[in-house]
Amino acid sequence: MAKIKMTTPLVEMDGDEMTRILWQWIKDELLSPFVELNTEYYDLGLKHRNETDDKVTVDSAEATKKYGVAVKCATITPNAARMTEYDLKAMYKSPNGTIRAILDGTVFRAPIIVKGIEPLVKNWKKPITIARHAYGDVYKGVEMKIPAAGRTELVYTAEDGTQTKELIHEFDGPGIIQGMHNINASIESFARSCFNYALDTKQDLWFATKDTISKKYDHTFKDIFQEIYDAEFADKFKAAGIEYFYTLIDDAVARVMRSEGGYIWACKNYDGDVMSDMVATAFGSLAMMTSVLVSPHGYYEYEAAHGTVQRHYYKHLKGEETSTNSVATIFAWSGALRKRGELDGNKELMEFADKLETACIRTIEDGKMTKDLALITTIENPVVLNSLDFIKAIRTTLEGMLA
Ligand code: NAD
Repeated sequence: MAKIKMTTPLVEMDGDEMTRILWQWIKDELLSPFVELNTEYYDLGLKHRNETDDKVTVDSAEATKKYGVAVKCATITPNAARMTEYDLKAMYKSPNGTIRAILDGTVFRAPIIVKGIEPLVKNWKKPITIARHAYGDVYKGVEMKIPAAGRTELVYTAEDGTQTKELIHEFDGPGIIQGMHNINASIESFARSCFNYALDTKQDLWFATKDTISKKYDHTFKDIFQEIYDAEFADKFKAAGIEYFYTLIDDAVARVMRSEGGYIWACKNYDGDVMSDMVATAFGSLAMMTSVLVSPHGYYEYEAAHGTVQRHYYKHLKGEETSTNSVATIFAWSGALRKRGELDGNKELMEFADKLETACIRTIEDGKMTKDLALITTIENPVVLNSLDFIKAIRTTLEGMLA
């Protein structure tokens, strides 16, 4: 069978530890035999980041701006222990943070639904995608402990020196205060990323804040979303047969629990932090979550939602068997290949991406899976495979489908 050709390179960002091992196996077993892979390779493994003073991370993000689509392997974010382990010149920032700062976007995370890995919420039938705003609010908050009685104020000093003040509280004893901010431009790009992603995936978009209590702060989020929707997206949503729906966060939570899924839930930074862990856990596992960074300028970066699975890597180095779940990393590749195909009008590549995903799901539904899934599946007597044999089992399923 002739291999599928790619016209435009995909930006490939290699990574660390066990996921780096899986990365190569996925390419060898599931991609290269079927696709003439055309990638521009960037090694974001910590060793090479150190050799390039982390320039490679910036270069890979710039390449993503040039080509539009990237696929990223999980990478180590250095801490004190990694400084010694890798003899680092500096404690480099998180590659994801660096890339996000350059591409400016929103991260969308969705569970991969498989029969036999049942959501804890029994009425959830379709994925719930969380879109988390990744700038500001309490994550850039400034806090103060108030030791004793006194007056606290918010003060805005304009460039011409004029001041506007707002009383926070007249303390008559000790207490605490917090100041936080967001930027209209960031909220606007968050909104556009969410609307574009809803159109891309043909799903309704929900957004919720506490605007009844936070009449200026949260209300600004609500207003910006509505203004952008009315001006730029209302017609497109209508044509696509999807809906934008705003409600209060407490109402949203109640509706989410009662829903059957199948929509995107846009969340402010803190809400997204909390709700994405709830949704991931309730759907089964972090190794069964897709994750994509969508920039308002139309760049896409696909990755797995989990880390480098360090513990398995050390076992692998000792020659011991591992059973690491590669599904999220395979879906990062299939997501990126499908998007590349879509942008290039390469139908064959898009169909291959669909089949690769179906092959993963069928393999698990046939009872062949890694240990993490075997522990939570409702399938009786699952066959627990090691990391490489699981990938090979997916290859067998895929070959059957392509034949
Ligand atoms: P991790 O996601 O690697 O592991 C967390 C837990 O989940 C572990 O118990 C692990 O065994 C399990 N797990 C995760 N993915 C799995 C898979 N595919 N199959 C089976 N089990 C899986 O997170 P961590 O241990 O906190 O971090 C390890 C390293 O990963 C750190 O250096 C961290 O900086 C990095 N990290 C990277 C990213 C990223 O690049 N997107 C995200 C998170 C953590």
